[in-house]
Amino acid sequence: MKKRFAKKSFGQNFLTDENVIRKLISAIDPQNDELIIEIGPGRGALTSRIIESEAKLIAIEIERDVIHFLKEEFSTAQNFTLIEGDVLKIEFEKIINNISTSKAKLAANLPYYISTAILQKLIAERHFFSEMILMFQREVADRITAQPSTKDRGFLTVLVEAYFECERLFDVSPTSFQPVPKVWSSVVRLKPKLNPRKDWDEEIFRNLVSTAFMQRRKTLHNNLKNIEGDLESRIGEAGGIESIFNITNFQPDRRAESLSLDEWIRLAEPLMTKNSG
Ligand code: SAM
Repeated sequence: MKKRFAKKSFGQNFLTDENVIRKLISAIDPQNDELIIEIGPGRGALTSRIIESEAKLIAIEIERDVIHFLKEEFSTAQNFTLIEGDVLKIEFEKIINNISTSKAKLAANLPYYISTAILQKLIAERHFFSEMILMFQREVADRITAQPSTKDRGFLTVLVEAYFECERLFDVSPTSFQPVPKVWSSVVRLKPKLNPRKDWDEEIFRNLVSTAFMQRRKTLHNNLKNIEGDLESRIGEAGGIESIFNITNFQPDRRAESLSLDEWIRLAEPLMTKNSG
């Protein structure tokens, strides 16, 4: 396939640097017969190596020209299945359960224009994966690994910290791709971990964190006081926002970006049990 086929609108920056490809494959560490899901195989830089490893590979690709290429290139590989479609519309549970009773590994050099949408989907469906090796635009990797009280810390940082062991592996220069993107990239390993407690309500936690970050310059109290829906009912059941700050020993004038994960969990605890009465 020639370079001119790369489609900007689909975030196509194909990996061409053998050294980076080797490092990524070593991070993915495909094992004979294990199930690997690849998002956006493109021209097959990772795909071909994973197929060679004899892992079972399911790749999801949306774009017609590369689909055509992949079908020709890997038509004889028994351990390769191509799903043609939009990864955001795929139910990972279905494709994994069809093939395997154990969890899958996920590998992707993500299309950057939808990388945070894909990450949110992966957070919601993390239970089907043993680990994820993901390449992001470096700024996104900075955001998801940002420490408390830094400007990069946000809603996604807290969710990623809450649900994964996160390890930043290495940065990748723009010259490792064709066409050459404007930005650096970073590879991150995410390993799903146990929820903070057994009766953890993911939806309420997600709402709490996103509402608290709604207007970054506002305090926690100001962001959380005028809300509606399930989170508001849960806050009401727990005695109201002032009472929650009291019980959990929080200064209401804190800003969302200053909280550590432990503090988020402490703040969320009174909201975790639904009052059935
Ligand atoms: N894995 C290849 C590599 O490393 O060279 C290609 C990576 S390229 C950054 C991203 C790939 O994702 C492209 O092949 C693109 O067509 C594909 N893609 C973009 N949007 C997609 C979507 N919504 N669903 C599935 N694949 C998508």
